[in-house]
This record gives sequence, structure tokens and C-alpha cells, in this order.
Amino acid sequence: MRLSRKSDIDKSIIILIEDEPAIADTVTYALESEGFTVEWRNTAHEGLELIQSSGANLVILDIGLPDMNGFDVFRKLRALSSVPVIFLTARNVEIDRVSGLEMGADDYVVKPFSPRELTARVRAVLRRSLQTGSVSVDSCGPEVGPFLIDTRAWTVTYHGKNLDLTRHEFGILALLLKHPGQVFSREQLLSHVWDEPEHRLDRTVDAHVKNIRFKLRKIDNQSDSIKTKRGVGYFFSSQK
Ligand code: CA
Repeated sequence: MRLSRKSDIDKSIIILIEDEPAIADTVTYALESEGFTVEWRNTAHEGLELIQSSGANLVILDIGLPDMNGFDVFRKLRALSSVPVIFLTARNVEIDRVSGLEMGADDYVVKPFSPRELTARVRAVLRRSLQTGSVSVDSCGPEVGPFLIDTRAWTVTYHGKNLDLTRHEFGILALLLKHPGQVFSREQLLSHVWDEPEHRLDRTVDAHVKNIRFKLRKIDNQSDSIKTKRGVGYFFSSQK
């Protein structure tokens, strides 16, 4: 789902997370009549699930969602993916706008907005992300050694081979790879990667790390990239 040419803007897949059906209908209609494909989800959980399973070229995210605040959704998304995000906000207070952009969102639209305005913003953001290249493979740079992570397709290759990871395994590994040497506690990993971290236990993380290590060793039996910091948590290091 990578955008490589300008004409590909029109084939973009846009995920819309919005709980009000009337707004969702308007947005979907406006964007689809321009040729975009729109996938609508009305809760944060379903939206995140879809983004993680299918990928998208752009996400339109309502701030007032029934199950999770849009800012929290955004933080979870940004821990792993650089997909462009446009916020929809109904609260006409400056702070929403400011914090939306301070968090690194690409743009925002205040309700009520005209379909034409939104469509123009969508095009502008897609064009910009094409120019800056943030829509291509999101590699982590030289420190990651044999790893190549594609946050758009939610895949990681290791020594050129695709790692068959579950959504949460991907989340943990991507986060560790993006911050070489930084130790993450089990609690931090839970809150970054899981939708409902309060219902999970530390040993959930341990079990997932064990699975990731197992999968790495199936490709390289000497693999020791995910290290344990005793009593603290886990970190990534390419050093032996
Ligand atoms: Ca709402």
C-alpha cells in the first residue's frame, strides 16, 4: 500500500474513525466521489484494528470517540506508524487544535466543515507525504542492522526474510527497534502496544517477547537482538 507516483494519490485508501453516522456518510460520500477508497469504523478499537491489519495511506480521526479519546488513539498509532492523520474536532476550543498539531498530526478540520474543505485537506496532506517521502518504507536506519521495518504494511523483515508476527508482537518489536538501546518496562510496552493495557499482565509481555525471540531464532539461531534488562524490561541492541 505504498504511494510511489503522484497519480497514486487518487487510489489512496483512507480509514475514517468517526462515531457519528451522519458525518461518516458525508465524509465517505465526498471522498469516494473523488475516487478515494474509504473504510469507516465507528470505534477507536475497530479503527486501530483495521489500520494494523490492512494499512492505510491516510487516517481521518475524530477526537470524541465513545471508547477512547482521539489523542490516545493517535499516540498509539504514532508509536508504530507514520501514516498521515487528519483530526476531526467538534470542540471549538483552541487547545484541541493546538494539541492536535503539537502531537504531530498532519492537519485538522473543525466541525461543521464542508466536504470540499475536507477533500482539499486530504489531497494536500497526501501530496505532502508523497513529497517528504514519509509514505515510503519507514526504515529505522543503520542501527537496526538486519531488520527492515515497514510501518505502513506492518511487516518486519529480518535478514531479508519476512517475520510472521501477530499484531502485538509487531508492536513490541517495532517500538524496540525504533529506540535502540532504550529500555522499555513491561508497563510501558503494555501501554504503547495494547488497546486495553489495564486488563493485561506483565507476563503477557514476557510471553510475546518469548515468541518474538523464537521467530528471530528460526531465521538466525544466534539471534540475541532483544535483550532483557533484569528487573526493568526489554531493549533492542544489535551488539552481541
Ligand atoms: Ca464524535
